[in-house]
Order: sequence, then C-alpha cells, then structure tokens
Amino acid sequence: MASRSSTSKASAQKKARNKGKTPLMRQYYKIKARHPNAVLLFRMGDFYETFDEDAERVSRLLGITLTTRNNGKSDDVPLAGFPHHALDSHLPKLIQAGLRVAICEQLEDAKYAKKVVKRDVVEVVTPGVSFHDQLLTPKRANYLAAVCWGTDRTTKGQAGIAFIDASTGEFSVTEVPAGRVEELMQTIAPAELLVDKQQRDHVQALGYQEYVLTPQEDWVFGYDFAYETLLRHFETHSLKGFGVEDLHLGLIAAGAALYYLGETQKGKLPHIRRIQRYQSDAFMVLDPQTKRNLELVASMQHGGQEGTLVQILDETLTAMGGRMLRKWLVRPLRTISTIEKRLDAVEALHASPRLRDHLREELGEVGDLERLAAKVATGRATPRDMIHLKLTLKQVPKVKTLLKDDDCDTLRSLSDKLTLCADVVDRIEKALVDEPPAKITEGGLFRDGYNDELDELREVAASGKDWVANMQQQEAERTDIPSLKVGFNKVFGYYIEITNTHKDKVPEDYIRKQTLVNSERYITPELKEYEEKILTAEEKIASLEQQLFDELRMAVGEHVTDMQLNASLLAMLDCFASLAYVAERHDYVRPEVHEGTELVIEDGRHPVVEQTLPAGEPFIPNSVHLDPDEEQILVITGPNMAGKSVVLRQTGLTVLLAQVGSFVPAKQARIGLADRIFTRVGASDNLAAGESTFLVEMNEAANILNNATPQSLILLDEVGRGTSTFDGLSIAWSLIEYLHETPRVAARTLFATHYHELNDLASRYPRVRNYRIQVQEHEGKVIFLRKLIPGGADHSYGIEVAKMAGLPEPVIQRARSILRQLESQHLVVEHAGDGEPSGGDGIAAKSAQAAVSQLDDADFQMSLFQGGKPDPVAEELKAALDGIDPNRMTPIEALMKLAELKQLLED
Ligand code: ATP
Repeated sequence: MASRSSTSKASAQKKARNKGKTPLMRQYYKIKARHPNAVLLFRMGDFYETFDEDAERVSRLLGITLTTRNNGKSDDVPLAGFPHHALDSHLPKLIQAGLRVAICEQLEDAKYAKKVVKRDVVEVVTPGVSFHDQLLTPKRANYLAAVCWGTDRTTKGQAGIAFIDASTGEFSVTEVPAGRVEELMQTIAPAELLVDKQQRDHVQALGYQEYVLTPQEDWVFGYDFAYETLLRHFETHSLKGFGVEDLHLGLIAAGAALYYLGETQKGKLPHIRRIQRYQSDAFMVLDPQTKRNLELVASMQHGGQEGTLVQILDETLTAMGGRMLRKWLVRPLRTISTIEKRLDAVEALHASPRLRDHLREELGEVGDLERLAAKVATGRATPRDMIHLKLTLKQVPKVKTLLKDDDCDTLRSLSDKLTLCADVVDRIEKALVDEPPAKITEGGLFRDGYNDELDELREVAASGKDWVANMQQQEAERTDIPSLKVGFNKVFGYYIEITNTHKDKVPEDYIRKQTLVNSERYITPELKEYEEKILTAEEKIASLEQQLFDELRMAVGEHVTDMQLNASLLAMLDCFASLAYVAERHDYVRPEVHEGTELVIEDGRHPVVEQTLPAGEPFIPNSVHLDPDEEQILVITGPNMAGKSVVLRQTGLTVLLAQVGSFVPAKQARIGLADRIFTRVGASDNLAAGESTFLVEMNEAANILNNATPQSLILLDEVGRGTSTFDGLSIAWSLIEYLHETPRVAARTLFATHYHELNDLASRYPRVRNYRIQVQEHEGKVIFLRKLIPGGADHSYGIEVAKMAGLPEPVIQRARSILRQLESQHLVVEHAGDGEPSGGDGIAAKSAQAAVSQLDDADFQMSLFQGGKPDPVAEELKAALDGIDPNRMTPIEALMKLAELKQLLED
C-alpha cells in the first residue's frame, strides 16, 4: 500500500512539475535529471542549447549571449547555445574549467519524428575521460584514477589505486601503504580522481591536488559490485588471468573507475582489453618533492616544461613514444636485467647512426596508433583517422624488417613481436579514397568499385546532376533568358530563377514558388520529378556510406589488441632511438649499473644546466664518489651561487637516468642501484596548505629519516635554512650524525651547506668527508671556479656575493663590520674553552661554532630512541611521538602538541 501511495505521490509531483511546460522542455528536464552534475548540451537542429544554470555558466565561460526561451505557460527559461560545429572549440574550454559535459544528440531524423524528436545523452566528457583530440595533449596520458583507503582490520593502513587512460585503453591497478598514495598520485598525475564520498577527508589531506575530484556514492566502492563490474567487462570468471585477483582494495578502485567510465561512455569500452598490475616495487620510489626538485617533467618555477629533464631528453617522433618516455622518467627501474635490456637497445642505436636514422625516419611517419586504435574500437574514428591508421600500419613491416636481424637481443625481440596487420591495411586501402573528407556526412569516402549498390546510386545522382545542367541550358534557350538559372535550396529543392528584367518572358508552364527582391523562383513538374530521383539517390548514398563505414570500422576494430601491442612496441623503439640520439648529440656514456652501493661519477654534468648556460660559458664537469663503507656522506660547502645545488642535482639525475636505461652526461659512471632518491632542496613553499617554510623543510627531513635505506641516495641542500642559525645548524648537525650512526638509514648522502661549522663532523665521523666548491678571491671579488674539490671552506663569502648582486655599498660595509665583530667574539668563546658566554654581545657569545663544539657524542640526542637504559619519561615521549603524523597536522595543532609534550617533561 505504502509503495503504491508513494508512487502516485511521485507521479502527482511530476505532473505538477511538468504543468504548462512545452513537450520539448519536458524532454529536456527528464534528461537533465539523469545528469544533475554535468552541463547538458542539448542538440536542437544545428545547435547545442543549454538552459537554466547551465546556460548561465556556459554563457559566462564561452562568452556567448544569454537569452530566454519560451516555455509554454511556465516561466521563460534562460538559454545559451552555439552552432554544433563549434563544439570542438567550445568543449575544451568547458572541460578545462573543471566541468563535466553531457552531450545529448537527436537520435532520429526530425523529418520522421512523430512528436518530439527522440534525444539522449551519447557521451559524458569529463577532465579524466575524453577521446576528443582537442582535449588531449599528444605526448601526455590522460588518466582517470580511483583510490580506496582500507578501513577494516585487514586493510587499514593500505590503499588501492586504479588508473585508466580511456584514450588509449591502458588500465592498471595496485595497492600501496596509505602513506604512499600521494607519491603515486604525483607519478600518475591523473586529470580526475574518483573517491568514495565518505572518504573525501583522506583526499583533502593529500598535498597533491592537481586533479578534478569526483566523489561517488559509497555503493560504487563496494567490493562485490566492483568485482562484478570487472568480470562483466572482461567476460571472465575470475581475474586470476590478469594476476590481480588478490588486490582487494585495488579491485574496488578498479571496479569503481571502470563503472564510472562505462557510465560516461554508455558502455562503449571494447578497447580496454586487460588490466595490469602496476608493480610499484619494480620502480624506484620518487616522492613528490623529489620529482619537483629534480624538475623531471615540470619546472619548479612555472610548472611548464621549460628547463626540465624531459625537455632535453624527449626527441621522440611519435606521440605515444613521448608519453612512454614521460612515464619512464618518473618511474625509473630497479632491476638490473631490465635496465640492461634498455641500455643494450640504446647502445645498439647509439653505435649505429645509420640504423638509428633509418628507424627514426620510419617512425616519423607513424601516427598515434594507440589513440587511433581506441577511436576505431569505440566507433569514434573519422574517415581521416582510418587513413592515418592505414599509413601508420604500413610502417610496421618496414620497422620490422629493419631490426629483424639486428645483433641486439632487445631490438630483435621487439621486431619479432610486431604484428603486420596486413589485412587491416588492405581492407582500408580497398575501401577508402586516399583523401576522404573529415566527416562521414560530407560523403565521397569510398572508392568506386568498392560496393555495387553505392556505384549505382552514385551514377543516378551524377546523371541527375548532368540533367539539371542540361535543363538550365535548354530552358535558357527556349525562353531566350540567358541569365536563367537552376538552383537548389533545402526548403524548396530545385527551382528556376528568373530576374525581374525577364519577367515577361516566363513561359506558362512555370509554377511560381517564391518572390525575391530582384527575381522570382519557379518550378516545373519535370524538374520536381528529377529532383525526387536525385535526392532519393543522395539520401540513400549518405545512409549507405554511413553503414559501410560502420562495418569497416567494426572490422578494423576487431584487431584492436594487435594494434595496441604494435603501439607499445613502436613507442618503446621511439624511446630507445630518442635516448640514443640525445646520447650522441650531448655526448653521454653508457653507465655501468650494479647491485652494490658504490657510486662513481667521473666528470659528471647537469643535463639541463649544461644546455642552458649562456653562450661562451662552459659547463665545468665534476666527479663524485660515494660509498656507504668509505665515503658515505659528503658535506659540500661553498658560497652562494658556487654550484652546490647543481652538483647535488646532477648526481641525482645521473643515477635516475641510468635507472631509466639512458646513457648519462659523464665521462664514466658506475652506479650502484638506488631504491629511492630523496631530495630536500631549497625552500619549496607549501604555504597555501597552511605550512610554514620551516615546517615543510622538517616534514621532508622527517620523511627522509623515516624511509631511507642503505640503498637510497639522499640529496640535502641547506637543511636548516628556514630557522635561526643556531637551530638550523644544530638540526643539520644532528641529521648528519643520525645518517652516519643509524645503520637502517645509512644512505649515500650529499649535504650542501653554508654552515662551514659542519666541517668539524669529518674529524669525528669516519665516513663523513668534506668537499667544497672552489672559488678565488680577487680584489675583493669572488670568482667562481665551479670545481668540487676535497676539503672544507673557512668562510661563507656571503657578503662578497651580496655585493656582486648589487646591494648598496653602505649595506655591504656595515655587514662587513658586523661580521668582523661577530668573528672576533666567536674566537673569544673558543679560547675561553668552558663554553660559558664571556659577557658582551649575546648573539656572538652563543656563536654557532661554540654551540657545536660543545656537543658531546655521549650526549647524542638520538640515544633517546636507541637502546641504553630505559628512561620512563623518554619511553612515554617516544610513545607519544610515535602516534604523531606531522604530515597531517596544522601548525597550530603542532604547537599544541609540543606544549603537551613539554608538559610531560615537567610533570
Ligand atoms: P646557493 O647556495 O645560492 O643556492 P649554489 O651553490 O647552490 O647557490 P647553484 O644554484 O648550484 O649554486 O649554481 C648557481 C649557478 O651557477 C647555476 O645556475 C649555473 O648557472 C652556474 N653553475 C653551477 N654549476 C656550474 C658548473 N659546474 N659549470 C658551469 N656553471 C655552473
């Protein structure tokens, strides 16, 4: 009973809602109700229209006029629309503004519609789901990602992540500890992220936010629902064949992503043929700040590509090669054998410029096979896409032959795997003309002789047209009106047009149809008879061409798996050829990679800086030797601008390049594989997230100390700069001690600093070495020699550099005098020997040198956390600290926590 009464209530409400509305608007609201979170583009004839709030938004974003539309007896509704052919230029603007756009088309010819034309949404375009060329960047993947955090006893602390590039069919899934979600997000860089709306808080806690967030209902993130969705899509009984069956959270994310994709594409996803396990262990871990600091694919200053590693390295010739290279750079490998395979291929192409040039020539003719294949499979390919596909596939045999007998195993095996797809090429070749129109509706795509029926219809249409031309000539002669014209328009069809000058010569059998300012239009029964014949033939041609094209697309789409495989093989070859080309052009060498931890770079260079120095300024190469057993930590001092950061970064980039499988900018390199590269470089501000520069710096340092291993490489640049000199110096000092003294984190470390006081560490710890970047002082000026040499620096040259930067002379003079004063008092303290301030200036008395020279090893703070006699307060403090996650705290919370901990000591 209850349900019946609620049904009738709902229908009463619906009636009330629809009251007075025109049938068209009723249809609109019905469709809009199914897509409340998207802007609905409602096709009406040659226009896409939007209404209500959608119209207001669209008119604002696209700068088009907002008007109103009559809505029967209901109020008029706001309206904004644009011609259908403007979709290509308007859609990107709407998507870039972060909107989701539902495209609603007319599903029948208005001519045959009995009432309102049938309409429905055929596609929802979102930032993470698009096939439109205008919305995709050729050399960049466009990922939709989904994350699911574990909540129960078995899954807590873990997260499942899935990502799909709808434009290529790539679909991957993985599980990681919850703390690594952000790092993975940064690696994938999705355009759109799906989450269970109840888990929104987790996302807000992430630092990386460069995607459009799309929360979903919780049932979309249910395991059974997700698993079923995946099975239904792949038409399998389990997911064991894909090797992902055990990923509980991962499959939830994967199912949610696939479901969402299916909803937006109305189920058309035949190009997604497999789901891959993303083996995060197979790749070097690069946390978000390291990716940023090393400027791999985005520059720190503007986020663009200018001055990045990818800009130097990417000489790929295909869009898919470009996408693959980007992936490689942010996911360096960790397995020697795979790295060696890549290096072998690069070496082979480096050693043979002829082979490389030839291969690159062929690749230059290859289109974006990966995206073309996806377009064909999803029924979106245009006639020109098909031609492009054919020309691309025609390159495959040439590439295959080129590499089939090569000495290099990697190249030969890629060549073996290439599939010729000859029947696809043949089919397209036989069907389509060489230069078909952009759209199917423009007609004339098929070759003569491809289809008998089409040929016959074409003949009728063509002879009809000839007949019209003949008729014009005959009638002009008969009526003696040389300007008589036979024309055509959509409303009246064929007509005879006679200017008013010859009005009196119009024969009686002409039937007047339309009067214009200077002329009249007529028809004759004979003309109409022919019109019928031609138009019917043309209509039939249009629908037959559409049908034949759909058949062709479907037949070609059957080969999507082969085409996808070819796409990835060609992309790989493109990457190898690009790396070989860059290696030769910039004089890189093949690195030796090994399982140990020794790192030797002889005459290394910074791949980007060396290319961007002003003309005539040579890059000075530098050598670095690191070995946890001997020279684990290099403390590098030198004045500002000396080149410390460059040494640090070039070392990181060289290791990274080697593990990508690239040659490296050095004379020689022997690289013990790194499991992670950590960087703490400069003061990257995260102030927008409510964190001070110093807090960011300490968070990053904490991350390093908690996660580094003896296989890691740590690059620390000016740690402690964000706070007072004493605090900064003390933190820097204890950090180095910790890295030296704690076997768990005893990683290879480069530590650049202005605190020359840190040079003392080398005499206390056997695996700490001092280096400095050489400078010369000449007549009060500093000359940068850029050479890294053993030994510490005695002072900082900060004032000299400030002078070079153009600080006014009085400021420089005053700074010199303050420095002299500080230095003299600092000596007093050292000589006093008891560490007590000797009176006078408080700052000088607590000189940094004095502070550190008082440090006693036995007093080493870390003892708090490392064995020794258990101290109950220390234990309590440790427990309290263990429970804190600084990444999740606001500065205020951190301060409050600090006060609470201090209270512990006082109690
Ligand atoms: P700061 O302490 O102020 O951060 P720094 O010592 O880290 O300075 P870098 O940023 O490494 O200095 O280098 C400053 C500039 O010097 C670079 O931008 C580059 O133009 C130049 N430079 C650095 N190293 C070299 C080199 N090896 N050869 C040539 N030029 C170099």
